[in-house]
Amino acid sequence: MFNKIVESSPSFCLEDREETPVQLIQHPLLKEYGIELYVKRDDMIHPLISGNKWRKLKYIIQDMMAVKKKYLVTFGGAWSNHILATACAGATFGFKTVGFIRGEEVQNPVLTVAKLFGMELIFTDRTQYRTPQTVFEDYLSKVANPNEYYFLEQGGQHPLAIKGCEEIIKNLPFVPNQIYCACGTGTTLAGLALGLSSTQENDKLETKNTRLFGIPVIGQGDLLREDILALNPKACFELLSAYHFGGYAKTKPELLNFISDFCRHTGILIEPIYTGKLFYAIFDQIKQGKITSNQKILAIHTGGLTSFLGMYEKWK
Ligand SMILES: *Cc1c(COP(=O)(O)O)cnc(C)c1O
Repeated sequence: MFNKIVESSPSFCLEDREETPVQLIQHPLLKEYGIELYVKRDDMIHPLISGNKWRKLKYIIQDMMAVKKKYLVTFGGAWSNHILATACAGATFGFKTVGFIRGEEVQNPVLTVAKLFGMELIFTDRTQYRTPQTVFEDYLSKVANPNEYYFLEQGGQHPLAIKGCEEIIKNLPFVPNQIYCACGTGTTLAGLALGLSSTQENDKLETKNTRLFGIPVIGQGDLLREDILALNPKACFELLSAYHFGGYAKTKPELLNFISDFCRHTGILIEPIYTGKLFYAIFDQIKQGKITSNQKILAIHTGGLTSFLGMYEKWK
């Protein structure tokens, strides 16, 4: 076996990395309850264009290139995984990126890395930020060639994003009884639901009895149901909305302790914003007897390990 030579942008293609492993993990609690927990290691797609951020960007970038735009303009908070992924994708595939960042000007490791990848950062006050389309149009009125710019909502919300996420569960090595995924906007979950129904149609895997669970990482997570159905009206899923720990990017000591314990036993890094809440929920469902030992459980590791950068001081 030889290592593969890849070309530099734009033909260096991340698609080669999408066949991420499905790993059976070990943990004393799983042993005690006799549960087989498998993790789809989408965190291994790329260190910075990580997990579901690559899945969401993939067809958007292809679309942008097809319509010959030079600039991708998008939106995010100052710690956004989406901003970082977009900046790195721009440098990798050879297009320019502009990031409108919510709130007053700040400096942090995420924004520094985005700048290193050549992203232009524009800090935007919170009121204006709520109407991104208007912010985008104002910006276009000031640039030389407005028709070179492609608009992308915060978090990569776009109809093409679910098409990429649908592929997360392509070529699974077995039919899981249950699939679990963290939800911010719910786009990834909408894509997974599509993936389950299309594998059924293609008759590759008998997935019609596979149950899909979303773990909202924000408060009032039940409100996501409508957003998910707007993206995929046929989506079949359940939301477990009691695992937000006070809201987006909020934590509690029990979550931080869980994360330490999980990382130590599995060698898989998870973080407090998304995947920490996801695995906490799965383990809690096991303890409550809602997940039983004859089931094959698949958790989607959506990546996003840079979420740590703003939170490392929480573990003292
Ligand atoms: C952005 C992100 C999510 C949320 O994905 P949605 O499609 O918005 O629900 C989940 N996990 C990680 C690690 C993320 O970075």
